[in-house]
Amino acid sequence: MSALAEATIQHIIYLLWARRDHPGLNTFFHEYQQTQFWSADRIRDLQWQRLRRIVRFAFERCPYYADRFRQVGFCPDDLREPADFLRLPVLTKDDIRQNQNQLTARGVPPSSYEDNFTGGSTGSPIAFKVSKLRMASRKAMTQRHDYWSGWRVGKWAGLLWGHPEAQPYASAWGRVRNALLYREVVLNTFDVREINFVRFLAELRRRKVRYLQAYSRSLLMFADYLSKQNIEPPPLESAITSAECLTPEERQLIEQTLQCRTFDRYGCREFSVIASECEAHQGLHLAAETMLVEFVVGDRPARPGEVGEILVTDSLNEAMPFIRYKIGDMGTPLDGLCPCGRGLPRMQMVAGRVTDFIHTPDGRWLSGVAINTYLISQVPGIRQAQIVQDQCNRLRFRLVESGQGNQAAEDFLREQVPRMFGRDMSYSTEWVAQIPPEASGKIRVTISRCGVTHGFSGAVAAAPARAGVDPLG
Ligand SMILES: [Zn+2]
Repeated sequence: MSALAEATIQHIIYLLWARRDHPGLNTFFHEYQQTQFWSADRIRDLQWQRLRRIVRFAFERCPYYADRFRQVGFCPDDLREPADFLRLPVLTKDDIRQNQNQLTARGVPPSSYEDNFTGGSTGSPIAFKVSKLRMASRKAMTQRHDYWSGWRVGKWAGLLWGHPEAQPYASAWGRVRNALLYREVVLNTFDVREINFVRFLAELRRRKVRYLQAYSRSLLMFADYLSKQNIEPPPLESAITSAECLTPEERQLIEQTLQCRTFDRYGCREFSVIASECEAHQGLHLAAETMLVEFVVGDRPARPGEVGEILVTDSLNEAMPFIRYKIGDMGTPLDGLCPCGRGLPRMQMVAGRVTDFIHTPDGRWLSGVAINTYLISQVPGIRQAQIVQDQCNRLRFRLVESGQGNQAAEDFLREQVPRMFGRDMSYSTEWVAQIPPEASGKIRVTISRCGVTHGFSGAVAAAPARAGVDPLG
């Protein structure tokens, strides 16, 4: 029965849903399933052809690029070989904040794109636009990379991440839709409490879930909980971890406790999945068909194995093309071919975003990634933010202004902080010139020094669940 249900969803329901709600998704997915096994040269040719196209498109349709390219004496016909790409100017988050209109492509109807936003990997919020067709291709690319973990459409998956609804799929229709299409068992990392771990575990067992997807540190917390409480984990095959860095020891704790392989992933809201581990676990394969990921040291490319700053060019998003976008992460390009046989280039991540859970007086833990995704991304008029919990009932928001004054941000926090962290959490704001990364290269979006560990002593807090602030884009 279960296999029949899975097959029905995979081969009928999902395809019909995708055709209606995300035109292009099925076609993109089939394309990416093929292209991943093309030779490295053939993939590079495809990538280069698409890059040349988007650079010309951006030059012709976006006043921002027309100006910037002219300033450096560049015209699209100059783009003859990949080395020419280095001549193009870098796009920063400040450029995006200050040139929203000039970066939006002319002649692209507003009905063909969606507005999106991000807290960014460094707590630096930006707003941007994504073509609906690109959204479909992003979903298809994510699906391809999900397949590497063994998961398939129609199979149940356990998710440990921030969800905009306190209790996803709570309505009768929501439950039906989830059972017949999405098949997600969700642990909302806005509201981590022992009772929710217990419910999540019971649901994983009831649905016979074999695959997890998680913010890395949320999964670590879950593994730590099972280990400390001596709870046998449900039988799992794989867990996809993303959104923040783990040490090798932390990864080992997850794999040993949960008895499954982890598949690390690098992605962000600007582009969705950027790179993922395949079953060979030898670096992360880049989604090269839809983007160029450069690793640069100053104005030269990093050598294989050398750490460089990451620049991303999205070759398919026409609504607001991002060309050589400085995302704020560091990574290393890898040389050679992967034993899995895929021709996609590979990379390795370098210590990037690390977040602490924030513990609230009403007994919840909130994932730092969820806070970054749903709170920091929404704060108006700031360039960067960091939240420090010095005491259990007090937060300090360290903020960098973007030149539009502080008032809008102050008003926003006054409304949102009690909503997200509860009325017993007080806070203060501290306006600073910048928030540099730590000496180790780690970027901490949330820091908790209140000394509470997630030992779950057995006293289960009875605070009501709260909704997040905004839906996923
Ligand atoms: Zn591989």
